[in-house]
Amino acid sequence: DRYVYRFGGGVSDGGSGDKNLLGGKGANLAEMASIGLPVPPGFTISTAMCTRYYDEGQKFPQSLRDEVAEGLAHIEAITGKVFGDHDNPLLVSVRSGARVSMPGMMDTVLNLGLNDQTVEGLARAAEDERFAWDSYRRFIQMYADVVLELDHGAFEEALEIAKEDQGFTLDTELTATDLKALVVEYKKLVRAQWGKDFPQDVHDQLWGAVGAVFGSWQSERAKVYRRLNDIPASWGTAVNVQAMVFGNMGETSATGVAFTRDPSKGDRAYYGEFLINAQGEDVVAGIRTPQYLTRAAREEAGAKPLSMEEAMPDVYGELANVFDTLETHYRDMQDIEFTVEKAKLWMLQTRSGKRTAKAALKIAVDMANEGLITEEEAVARVDPAALDQLLHPTLDPQAKRDVIAKGLPASPGAASGQAVFDADTAEKRNAAGEAVILIRTETSPEDIHGMHAARGILTARGGMTSHAAVVARGMGRPCVSGAGSIAISAKDKVMRVGGREIREGDVLTIDGATGEVMAGEVATVQPELAGDFATLMVWADKVRRLKVRANAETPLDCKTAREFGAEGVGLCRTEHMFFDAGRITAVRQMILASDEAGRRAALDRLLPEQRSDFAEIFAVMAGLPVTIRLLDPPLHEFLPHEEAEFAEVAQAAGIDVDTLKRRANELHEFNPMLGHRGCRLGVTYPEIYEMQARAIFEAALDVAAESGAAPIPEVMIPLVATKRELDLMKAVVDRAAQAVFAERGTEVEYLVGTMIELPRAALKAGEIAETGEFFSFGTNDLTQTTLGVSRDDAARFLGAYVEQGIYPKDPFVSLDVDGVGELVRLAAERGRATRPDIKLGICGEHGGDPASIGFCEQVGLDYVSASPYRVPIARLAAAQAAL
Ligand code: ADP
Ligand code: MG
Ligand code: MG
Repeated sequence: DRYVYRFGGGVSDGGSGDKNLLGGKGANLAEMASIGLPVPPGFTISTAMCTRYYDEGQKFPQSLRDEVAEGLAHIEAITGKVFGDHDNPLLVSVRSGARVSMPGMMDTVLNLGLNDQTVEGLARAAEDERFAWDSYRRFIQMYADVVLELDHGAFEEALEIAKEDQGFTLDTELTATDLKALVVEYKKLVRAQWGKDFPQDVHDQLWGAVGAVFGSWQSERAKVYRRLNDIPASWGTAVNVQAMVFGNMGETSATGVAFTRDPSKGDRAYYGEFLINAQGEDVVAGIRTPQYLTRAAREEAGAKPLSMEEAMPDVYGELANVFDTLETHYRDMQDIEFTVEKAKLWMLQTRSGKRTAKAALKIAVDMANEGLITEEEAVARVDPAALDQLLHPTLDPQAKRDVIAKGLPASPGAASGQAVFDADTAEKRNAAGEAVILIRTETSPEDIHGMHAARGILTARGGMTSHAAVVARGMGRPCVSGAGSIAISAKDKVMRVGGREIREGDVLTIDGATGEVMAGEVATVQPELAGDFATLMVWADKVRRLKVRANAETPLDCKTAREFGAEGVGLCRTEHMFFDAGRITAVRQMILASDEAGRRAALDRLLPEQRSDFAEIFAVMAGLPVTIRLLDPPLHEFLPHEEAEFAEVAQAAGIDVDTLKRRANELHEFNPMLGHRGCRLGVTYPEIYEMQARAIFEAALDVAAESGAAPIPEVMIPLVATKRELDLMKAVVDRAAQAVFAERGTEVEYLVGTMIELPRAALKAGEIAETGEFFSFGTNDLTQTTLGVSRDDAARFLGAYVEQGIYPKDPFVSLDVDGVGELVRLAAERGRATRPDIKLGICGEHGGDPASIGFCEQVGLDYVSASPYRVPIARLAAAQAAL
């Protein structure tokens, strides 16, 4: 087996396709060398050796020693220098490199190969004593720190003292004599801390460094990073040994880092920093302030020190050519390290550059327009989840922030407004034209109108799937949830945090992307939805098969959804409509009625309200399918909970307080999630569903008559477990339809189907499809019922579950493909077997999660439905799933 792969001087044993074997750095060095770019020669010891090294008790086989000797000979042949030679010594760098770039791995050692003899040879060969001794002291310092793992503070101190003694401030002011004295100091420190002399044998130095790279693969830092990023220990790291080139050989030498395009905005402009007379690490370490690469960037920043373009125009020109070569070759934006040794350019690293979401979008679209990549590749390159950042207002990065608390980033976007502590005040102030932030300890369905009225929502309790978080995401309102350090008194209308008080009307700002809460107003930047974004969406739509609908229940949500490209409504919940001011009284009268006649009287009052709700939605969604879910939550949710409210409600309902309390007590449930809800309401009180169905059909006919474009209602029965339930409920809906059609003398097309959200329904999907004309997978409840995990209580333990790998991700955020997914797959198959043209969709939170959308494509669903602001994410994810 072979473990050493050479590069440079016209040889490349590997290439960019060999990242698994050579690590990212090694593979790309070989690739750059093979396309004729100036790369200092070197070799890579493969990741396979790392694995073998650990298998064999951390020892190197003799064969490796032979191969490394050949590798060194390769470098020596090209450079004309000899490793360990006293007159013309070869120096190398030893660099780690895993498949993916990984903090926690060993830092690079530069200038390896220097000792008390070779340093003299280097001084003579370079005709520069200062340079040689500076390199030697750097080498000892790095080797002591990185390989010997000695206390680096002592070395830094010695350097400081050396400078102070002479009254210098910069390292570069130290003379050869000073540096020689410093080397003596350094060697003493090594002896004192390590108990042995600094290794003088260059081969010992080399094997020590190689061993340290492999050793760092199992360092605590590396292990933690691997765990957090799902990187298997079996990958191992490679080691790169490469001839040194020197950026610290005077004013015609330099070192720098660059991006081929702006990584934060995505503009097509070279972007980077460099330092004259410096070695690699100096740029990142911030020892001196780096200079700009281009003149334009320098001028824009109003900086004095010349840019590379101005200071070294020839080398800069060469570098610019290299950037273009790399982009054309890799067809992506590159992140580069380079060094200039006496006006000669050398490339030391290239990789695909990290970039912001905004830059990712711009670069993908630009590159497709430039013909560098195809439209489909552009679609594949943008991370759908990252789009989230682009669809909401964000805080102006320049603006000052007075952060007073931090919670969970529950729903992205930034918003400022006056603090309000209850939903009614939020609604009132919003109606008066004021921007408000609704602050609650936690929210419940009763707060919906206030959440709608607010620019943003802040809660002290609750996780990423709390009511506040889910509803806020659905509405596209920024939300920070679970900010545990704040104490809220809704009664006194005040929030206290860190000794400060925010009272009603005080302005504050929340950033739902970071979880930060700030006092005062912080300027925001509006999202740019035209331009590149729109272009990429058009390209995505060309390739996707899955339709994308929105979960929306107000005309405003529907409008937003259509603007974002929704092709229908996949879930219109009706319960929120019941909470609206003016209706809740009728709803309560219905609940409190002692007989059907009483209920019908109250329902008659609700009918026109529901009809107008649906008419408004249908008008926005004309011509498109709208799935309406009939009433789902348990009735007690509509009754008051606080003592103060009982009297008021009793009076409004025309009954006494005791009767009201008794009825509320009767409705109390031990486990409402599994209680009297969903179609169970329809089975016991069919008149509720009858009213809702009538409202739907009347509204549909009204809109059809007005606009000429009939909506396509899809009436959805929730929480069905058996075919018989659906039979009964479908009969109620069909009767209402027939009655309305007869009264109006005209009809609309409609479907009746069900939500698949119970395991029994998934199992009996074949039978249920005999009646149901569509299935919508309600994966929020299906996850709860399949896992037996209540999502309102899961926050306490799900974190530990994910940490210990029991579930790979929060199953309420990303579909549990193995378990819940199997039920979805099975139900889809059985449903289709009975009714080949059955419409299949998903309407849980998962409908907006890219990984879950990939699964929906695999199972062949017809559509996914996501909250309006996630519609573009879903469109892009659906396109990627189809590619
Ligand atoms: P990292 O992954 O931390 O960037 P690198 O191995 O890329 O580590 O190197 C650290 C610094 O040392 C970089 O600035 C790099 O350009 C520089 N460097 C590495 N090898 C050499 C070399 N052979 N000659 C000159 N500089 C080098
Ligand atoms: Mg690097
Ligand atoms: Mg449900």
